[in-house]
Amino acid sequence: MAALVSEYTLEFFTLLNARGKKELIEWCMKEGLIASSYECPNCNEQMRLNERKSVVLDGFEWRCRKKGVNAHDVCRSLRKNSWFSNSKLSMYDVLRVTKMWFGRCMNDYVVNELKLNINTVIDWFMFCREVCMNAVVNESVKIGGVNVIVEIDESKFGKMKYGKGKPVDGKWVFGGIERGTNRCFFRVVERRTKEELLCVIKEWVLPGSTIVSDCWKAYKCLSDEGFKHLEVNHSVCFKDPDTGAHTNSIEGTWSAIKRFLRNHTSHAEGMFDHYLAEYLWRRSRDHSLSDETFRDFFKSCYYTLPSTWEGSTIRK
Ligand SMILES: [Zn+2]
Repeated sequence: MAALVSEYTLEFFTLLNARGKKELIEWCMKEGLIASSYECPNCNEQMRLNERKSVVLDGFEWRCRKKGVNAHDVCRSLRKNSWFSNSKLSMYDVLRVTKMWFGRCMNDYVVNELKLNINTVIDWFMFCREVCMNAVVNESVKIGGVNVIVEIDESKFGKMKYGKGKPVDGKWVFGGIERGTNRCFFRVVERRTKEELLCVIKEWVLPGSTIVSDCWKAYKCLSDEGFKHLEVNHSVCFKDPDTGAHTNSIEGTWSAIKRFLRNHTSHAEGMFDHYLAEYLWRRSRDHSLSDETFRDFFKSCYYTLPSTWEGSTIRK
């Protein structure tokens, strides 16, 4: 491998692929992207890596072949329960399409670069967003605490009819941001009723937090529910002149989320939760496009997979 090409770049994958299937497989094992050993389901001994031309995509498989008593010949795919499972693409192509999603490439660009079918690209980009959904749920922590300010707000997301007028068929997203940190929660809610919003607040905001909100009537109850509550009347001003309370952090975040979603309007229909999760996953990593963050994406993949499975071991 050329010394100066850092891992997890497209160039690295290309060089790796040029060195042959075995090298690609060994690298994926080293990185924990596929299992590095597999126990035979029949005799519990370690299966061995077997080269086989008929396994066209990978060129190798796990195999255990025994004669005599308990004779058996068992084969398993290298891809079982990995990011590559059940795909008709080579591992090389999967690495590249995943990298291009991570790099925020547009669908058409990826189709041209990788010579893949548009539906294949759309599917893989959706798989990536599913990883984000699982990661966002798994990584969620309660925010706030005594003397910590949490800004909360709801915002309606939806397409504008003919580019003007009121949003139609939108979704309410309710969110909270801990001021001064990157910590936040966002949830799609059916209605912005007191019951529904309070339920989310109690789930995600620690008791004793100072909650800043607008004057929406559903929030009136907060000071009776163990929170300090400050209101900003947006019809009058954006910063309360007496308390200094403001919701600038969350207002700014709504704009950023809406901008992000606008770039995906043609495919975002019905997939709002996926795109919101992608935004939140990226936000929690400061929108970094570094190779190190891309590597971190593969760690997030394993939220989507079972952590252990019969016979095989995978590094995390
Ligand atoms: Zn065996």
